[in-house]
Amino acid sequence: MQIPSEILDILNKLSQSNFEGYIVGGCVRDLLMKNPHHTPKDWDIATNALPEQIQAIFPDSVYENNFGTVAIKTESKDPTLKIVEITTFRKEGKYTDKRHPDKIKFAKTIEEDLCRRDFTINAMALSLETQNLKHKTQKRGSKLLVANYKIIDPFKGQKDLTKKIIRAVGNPHERFQEDGLRLMRAIRLACELSADWRIEEQTLKAIKENSSLLSFISKERIRDEFIKIIETPQAAKGILLLEETNLLKEITPELTKTIGVTQNKHHIYTVWEHLWRSLDYAAKKNYSLEVRLTSLFHDIGKPQVKQGEGKDATFYGHEWQGAKIAARILNRLKFPRNTSEKVIKLIRYHQFVYDPEITTDAAIRRLLVKVGKENIKELAQVREADRIGSGCPKALPFRLRHFLFRVEKVLKETEGEQPSLKILEINGNDLIRKFNLEPGPKIGAILSILLEEVLDNPQKNNKKDLEKIAEELVKLPDDELQRKQKLAEKKYRNLLEEEETKIKKKYYV
Ligand code: ATP
Ligand code: MG
Repeated sequence: MQIPSEILDILNKLSQSNFEGYIVGGCVRDLLMKNPHHTPKDWDIATNALPEQIQAIFPDSVYENNFGTVAIKTESKDPTLKIVEITTFRKEGKYTDKRHPDKIKFAKTIEEDLCRRDFTINAMALSLETQNLKHKTQKRGSKLLVANYKIIDPFKGQKDLTKKIIRAVGNPHERFQEDGLRLMRAIRLACELSADWRIEEQTLKAIKENSSLLSFISKERIRDEFIKIIETPQAAKGILLLEETNLLKEITPELTKTIGVTQNKHHIYTVWEHLWRSLDYAAKKNYSLEVRLTSLFHDIGKPQVKQGEGKDATFYGHEWQGAKIAARILNRLKFPRNTSEKVIKLIRYHQFVYDPEITTDAAIRRLLVKVGKENIKELAQVREADRIGSGCPKALPFRLRHFLFRVEKVLKETEGEQPSLKILEINGNDLIRKFNLEPGPKIGAILSILLEEVLDNPQKNNKKDLEKIAEELVKLPDDELQRKQKLAEKKYRNLLEEEETKIKKKYYV
């Protein structure tokens, strides 16, 4: 078992003061899974020391709650170890409000403490043989191999771990009635751990029967679990599980209204099936939270605006309606403003039309202003997910690739990324002053030739070198200067075309 030295330090200190200390919770589960993708996100320790006693042993700590959890600062460079939480053994009290236990009662043994935990795979404790390590000084920031350890596993969590089953500790009904958030935690875990994890039958049944308990849970806590589900590669599995267990109706009833809503001759799936399939693609492609949420919600307005039935049904304005409904959902769930604003924009414009032959640069610029150029890549990703979610074979057809090419081209042009006279370290006025010239075409000609020089030799882009070249140009007869100017401008046009070809190549158009 590989244990960070910071954790061993803490366990040693507890043991030197004659207290018990165990590694508990999600990190034990993650350690036993031996999956490199599931390394512990945080480390929790349980002890029989009381909060005051913990603080006496670890002066650099904070105790700011009533749950017996003291946060220890470790000076570790590893963000998962900077703060380690030590919690006094607890047993669960009565939950009259279905949210918090009425009173925290401390327990005497680790076994009692494990009883209050939610799922069998989270209810294991690791006891290390710290005796042998006691007097060794440890280097900070290293992991040490610990050979002597004991797993305390009264609910057969290890067995469920190998069988990939989420099972409530003890009576699932009681568990969920104590804390309704566990309803979502079960599904979140089933998604986070990996695709083939499932929820044990009785536990699943109890989630369904207790789904209304979610109404006692704060929107913020629901939102956090919802985000965690959406951010796993198994997001679509999570949404289907939320639906199957009736939890989706508690979180986003608007989404369940799309179930069974058929579309028209252009679609093979109902709105609901299309939405979760779109999300599935976005999650598998590891796209941003906003692209995932948009994929899930983009057609949520369709049931409200549907006209007609069968192959000719229409959904005019569903993008407006959808943006409005999504705004309501995201506000209700207290999503941060930048997230909801982006999602609302992406839904509002997900129907953008692009035709390589017809769409003008001006139309693209207008779209860029409306959606925001920082969101345009994600808009194309939404379109990809939308296509795959509709059953199309190709995510990025010629048209969509061509759209991205045009966007990049328009952006380069409007943002002046292409080389222009502006990059020169000398301007027309400088030339007029230096060489006593009259304003006129001669100035433009000299500048064009200088730009060409600089594009070939960027190191010449300084006042001294440019003036030296200009000095020679000023002496030339007009027709010779014009000839040189034409040549320079032709080379410049070639360069722009080359740039365009490069962007085209990037998008295979
Ligand atoms: P994560 O990987 O998100 O950290 P975790 O299982 O470690 O998952 P934490 O929120 O860190 O979750 O909680 C640590 C442990 O505390 C859990 O493993 C579980 O034993 C217990 N626990 C957390 N929340 C609950 C809850 N709502 N009900 C019962 N036990 C809980
Ligand atoms: Mg944890």
